[in-house]
Amino acid sequence: MATVLRAFKFALDPTADQRTKLKRYAGAARRGYNFALGMKIQAHQQWRERVDALVAERMEESEARRHCGIAIPRKPAVYKEFIATRGDDRTGEDGIAPWHHQIPSYCFQSAFNDADQAWKNWLDSLTGKRAGRRVGYPRFKSKHRSRDSFRLHNKKGATPMLRLEGYRRLNLHTKLGSVRLHDSGKRMHRLVASGAAVVKSVTVSRGGSRWYASVLCEVETDLPAPTRRQRRNGRVGVDLGTHHLAALSKPVEGAVLIDNPRHVRAAAKRLAKAQRALARTEKGSARRKKAAVRVGRLYHAVALKRATTLHALSKRLVTTFACVAVEDLNVGGMTRSARGTVEAPGSNVAAKAGLNRSLLDAALAELRRQLDYKTSWYGSRLAVVDRWFPSSKTCSACGWRHPSQTLADRVFVCAECGMRVDRDLNAARNIAAHAEPVPGPGTVAPGRGETINARGGRGSPAALRGSRRRPVNREDAGLIGPAPPRRSNPPTSSARRPQDDNGSE
Ligand SMILES: [Zn+2]
Repeated sequence: MATVLRAFKFALDPTADQRTKLKRYAGAARRGYNFALGMKIQAHQQWRERVDALVAERMEESEARRHCGIAIPRKPAVYKEFIATRGDDRTGEDGIAPWHHQIPSYCFQSAFNDADQAWKNWLDSLTGKRAGRRVGYPRFKSKHRSRDSFRLHNKKGATPMLRLEGYRRLNLHTKLGSVRLHDSGKRMHRLVASGAAVVKSVTVSRGGSRWYASVLCEVETDLPAPTRRQRRNGRVGVDLGTHHLAALSKPVEGAVLIDNPRHVRAAAKRLAKAQRALARTEKGSARRKKAAVRVGRLYHAVALKRATTLHALSKRLVTTFACVAVEDLNVGGMTRSARGTVEAPGSNVAAKAGLNRSLLDAALAELRRQLDYKTSWYGSRLAVVDRWFPSSKTCSACGWRHPSQTLADRVFVCAECGMRVDRDLNAARNIAAHAEPVPGPGTVAPGRGETINARGGRGSPAALRGSRRRPVNREDAGLIGPAPPRRSNPPTSSARRPQDDNGSE
């Protein structure tokens, strides 16, 4: 038996009144995040000034940092300040959020946590503690740019606040009531009723014009052994590509090259058309607003279809094979420019740049994430090979390295052993041959893969293993203490102003 985190995602059918409230809660969460970030940035600026002043008095920079005595405020301090300044329109007290009593306080609290996490992610990325893409200086959330979302945590008590009522309703908060689910919650309801699952938190977000609830549960589950079919099929290598969706080193249902389904391509075409239409509208016009809504909806539809396709692929792979090998996104790999450096210029810059490249990176990260947990569900293993292993330039039969293979060459021809094979298929075979198994089912590399909250918090099932399984208030658990910012300077206060949104839209 093992305890794993599992999210159940439901589309919601809120009433008109609930819809308004959801929008306001998301606005309040954004406001809370900006408030916390504002405090951090202000403290950061004071810190920088103080350090500079000490350095001007001929103190060493490292010494100055130790003695400046300014800490970046974290959630407890932020919450205290928020309570002191929020005001209350019931008593006529003016403040920054006098309407706060209409909003579940969890919306603010989890937003403060998110700001802590965003700050930590930036610091860790700066100091090289965090793997993956470089994380920028935290930005204020804007109504126009950020995703509408907020998170509620389960309350301790005999009747948990976050619970399914029957198969069709999800109780979120007394201020909101229970929201009807668009689809059935039967599977989750049964797990919770039997005591095998405990609800930890719910993240509510808007995609296009729809609202979704992602219910995070701690689930007690058996880790299955591979089936006879999986053992017989052994290991498969997967190469994601722009030409095909994926190339496999071994056939699945007779196919080694898997194409993107037609409906995904059609939806992408419709999106491109809608984006062109949007670009032709006048700023601030009613038509522009309408066109923007249409782009948002189509964008969401394309994302959903892509996700569905990847889900189908990842499930087929983990149920068919005992081991699935993919390319990994290595440390800092995603930012490595195709352009290279002045001393070592990159080759084939144009072909590597552009939209396809970033979509491919996103798809690869998502496939990696799905394989991470699905392998543990279905008794399979995950293996990865470094992203910069030259999988498409190496002969998968004899190991000869092609000196000038380009992206345009669809066929790999080996000068050593004479093998002729599809370029992506050759890559898939190399990935299968050179991948290293990822340790243990259910364990996840830091900074990527399974995360439990919007800002990439602690999420590996291993981190939660051994904890007692009942609803706990995870608000203050285990965030790492502040470290002094290094190298960077905070932006000037005039450069970054929070967007003016007060949660009441
Ligand atoms: Zn060869």
